[in-house]
Amino acid sequence: MKISTKPVIAIIGHKNSGKTLLIEKLVKELVKKGYKVASVKHIGRKGHGFDMPRKDTTKHLEAGANPVIAITEDQIITIKKTHIENPLETLWENIPEKINIVFLEGFSTWTLSNENIPKIICIRNKEDLKEYQEKAKNTLLFGSLKRIENEKILHIIEDFREILEKTISYIKNQEKLIEVYNLLPRLNCGKCRFKTCFNLAKAILDNKASKEECVVLTQKKGIKILIDGKEIPVTSFVEKIVKTTILSMLSTLKGVNIEDEQKAKLKIEVETSN
Ligand code: SF4
Repeated sequence: MKISTKPVIAIIGHKNSGKTLLIEKLVKELVKKGYKVASVKHIGRKGHGFDMPRKDTTKHLEAGANPVIAITEDQIITIKKTHIENPLETLWENIPEKINIVFLEGFSTWTLSNENIPKIICIRNKEDLKEYQEKAKNTLLFGSLKRIENEKILHIIEDFREILEKTISYIKNQEKLIEVYNLLPRLNCGKCRFKTCFNLAKAILDNKASKEECVVLTQKKGIKILIDGKEIPVTSFVEKIVKTTILSMLSTLKGVNIEDEQKAKLKIEVETSN
């Protein structure tokens, strides 16, 4: 699964548990503080479409136009007919670079047991609390529109400042984590004890590991690939294939004599700009 390189929080909960109200309040306050916020709402399963029955755009789409673009002087919506296996995998490509935090609403199928996505869970009663305590992984906090006797549950309106502080603290921490993650190859080759680059990044941030534990970063390289000056990390498998293929081709050229392929070093530089 792709890892978001943006801080992301899923706001989950049953219907009428206060999810949308909480997102509205968080977005308002964070935007006031200068954060750039994106939100993503999962609005239905296949065939449900958007909430625009009998609108002209829906008629265009039903007639076969793809995409259909609806535009005003200050808003634009692009509607595309497509097939999406996992909405979470697809949405990261649509989040602009400069966003500081992404809120997801209504993605519990994909986020509930995903340890990499922290959650604010809106609950209506103690039964909801029990249900989500059993199922959810990586819960930042529980919120509710009702005062429920449990020290773990914050009131969405009365304790909003505390919810906001916890959210900001998560964003700051996540930004540091992503900085560390970006220093790693992000190949998830599984060769270090942490199995994924993201897990190693977390351990580095907790002072439980160092970058040197990444096998890919520390391995002796027989190949260096630079694209626009940036080194692209490769696994030893890719290194072997690329090196063998290129050296075999080069060795057929006149005047080229490569005696020991193992010892040969290869540097490939690609410039994509003019
Ligand atoms: S060895 Fe490096 S590239 Fe492989 S999973 Fe660990 S951190 Fe990622």
